[in-house]
Amino acid sequence: MLIKKTIFALLFISFALFSRDYKKYSKSEFAMGTNLAVTFFSYDGKKNANKILAECFRLAGDLEKKVSCKNATSTIYKLNSVKKGDVSDDFTLELLKNSLYYAELTDGLFDPALYNVIELWGFESGENKIPEIKEILAALKSSGYKNVAIDGKTIVLSNGASLDLGGIAKGAIIGKIAEYLKSVGLKDFLINGGGDIVVGGLYAGQRKWRIAIANPFNQNETVGMVELTDCSVVTSGDYERYFISEDGIRYHHIIDPRTGTPANNGVHSATVIADSPVKADALSTALFVAGVKEGLELIKKTTGVKTIFISGNKEDFKLDYSDNISHTIRDGKYYFEVKE
Ligand code: AMP
Ligand code: MG
Repeated sequence: MLIKKTIFALLFISFALFSRDYKKYSKSEFAMGTNLAVTFFSYDGKKNANKILAECFRLAGDLEKKVSCKNATSTIYKLNSVKKGDVSDDFTLELLKNSLYYAELTDGLFDPALYNVIELWGFESGENKIPEIKEILAALKSSGYKNVAIDGKTIVLSNGASLDLGGIAKGAIIGKIAEYLKSVGLKDFLINGGGDIVVGGLYAGQRKWRIAIANPFNQNETVGMVELTDCSVVTSGDYERYFISEDGIRYHHIIDPRTGTPANNGVHSATVIADSPVKADALSTALFVAGVKEGLELIKKTTGVKTIFISGNKEDFKLDYSDNISHTIRDGKYYFEVKE
């Protein structure tokens, strides 16, 4: 009798488990200075899913406050004002260490201490202007990752240098959101912070996630798509933040640290696919600055990184990508395949 009851109970529990819907939950809101969208699949009910989604956005806001160079209460803002200080939170300290790591790896093409130059162009304040050459040269003198020293928890900024972690922070934040989702038992998710993407598992637990590659000449269009699982995709593009001067020249927000001016090598977007969002974010910025030829050489320094460059112009754009990617064309769209 007891055996019968147990079997019945087990059958009932399995039926209850398997008959639950694996539902998609999603929320998108302005965060980290962009549109942040979190999507996941879960057997949980709406109430619990909404709680998890709210926590993702709370986390994004909380972490952004720590590392934004514009927020007067942030650790980075304070460091920029006093040039020396202890960093007590682990997230910021780890981000600073990673920033220096990627600055070294890319020979300073990714540079977290370019704030003085970026500020001149008004990309942080929104009051855009073309700086005078002498202003740029002076700002370059007080810029550069070599002016950043980390000793334990103490950070020292020399020569008047200031930090801007905008090229890596979004990657780090979406990475923390992914960690949180995993910690609550979710494995099939996509986090998209304005072109910085982390995917976990599969769409609906069934197929790889399909990630669109934006057309840098028309943001409402895509040039193609890549199917991925458990990795990060980050794109740096000249269409994300820019202004157009009176004589029609487009000045965008990714600065070549060698000149102090917006990178100008013909590349309009650089997409990086990598195993971590921090790596993908830092390298997408560096590769955008490096351009195609130097960029394809640069990624050989690190493992598992894939990249797609789009250059040329609206009528005739050009694609270049690393050896570990291939593509087919269907209906005029590119379908990229990642080789492991
Ligand atoms: P992303 O969209 O990730 O390429 O980051 C661009 C942002 O990174 C800019 O808005 C600046 O805040 C900052 N930035 C600009 N140029 C560089 C650079 N060469 N290295 C690191 N960060 C940069
Ligand atoms: Mg970046």
